[in-house]
Amino acid sequence: MDKLIKALASEGAIRIFVAETTELVAEAVRRHKCAPTAAAALGRTLSAGALLGANLKGRNEKVTIQINGGGPLGTIMVDADGDGTLRGFVANPDVHFINEATKKLDVGRAVGKFGTLKVILDRNLRSDFTGTVDLQTGEIAEDFAYYFTVSEQTPSAVSLGVLIDTDGSVKSAGALMIQMMPNANEADISMAEHVAENLRPISAMFADGMTPEEIATALFDEVNILETRELHFHCDCSKDRMADALKTLDKSEIQEMIDEDHGCEITCHFCNTTYHFAEVELAGMLVTS
Ligand code: ZN
Repeated sequence: MDKLIKALASEGAIRIFVAETTELVAEAVRRHKCAPTAAAALGRTLSAGALLGANLKGRNEKVTIQINGGGPLGTIMVDADGDGTLRGFVANPDVHFINEATKKLDVGRAVGKFGTLKVILDRNLRSDFTGTVDLQTGEIAEDFAYYFTVSEQTPSAVSLGVLIDTDGSVKSAGALMIQMMPNANEADISMAEHVAENLRPISAMFADGMTPEEIATALFDEVNILETRELHFHCDCSKDRMADALKTLDKSEIQEMIDEDHGCEITCHFCNTTYHFAEVELAGMLVTS
């Protein structure tokens, strides 16, 4: 089961978030039929979404991430709700590059680095917020570290990882963030830097079977776990919602779908579910609207 923990270490000077996202990333990759590099990019962004959603409460609070670096992947979009549900897509899921030198998935090339990372926070109008930063590398983790440091004014180290198996499926995925709190002293800062510099890939730790709690306590002393939350892939689209969208079209356009296509199909971007509307259902919309 995927979950996120929020913890404090070093007498509250260091804040730690650890999220295992293996199942929800695997679900997204399956739904969108992502090639390995697209899967890594979407999975890293979903894992970052788990970090951004960690400070939200309840299903009415939501954060949306949009990344577009001008590369062949196009836009990556992720929604995370305060109840631990996430959904997301990448515009071109077929994109796949291997870095010739490292033999690793070349996410930076697929995303591109000439563009922005945008975060839109929707807390039911109480404190809505949009933050945009220029992409640093397109590798996503560095871009989020820069976002948290600049936009939220909190020095942060971010590790995001997706391990793709030889058959193209997701073996493990997760996120780790280490943040310095205002009461951190020199010793806390150098200790956190040491941990961040010597970190194993987060996906490797989850592939080894470690839990988020075990990872936090392995990295720091005196870890105090504040909160645990389950994470799930979930999309709130439905046939009713798609019908509402159809009803906003011109009657002539609906008539055209009836006459020429004898029905229509609409696919949700976020979860790739296709909804079919038969001729008779479209005809019903012309009568009631
Ligand atoms: Zn959907």
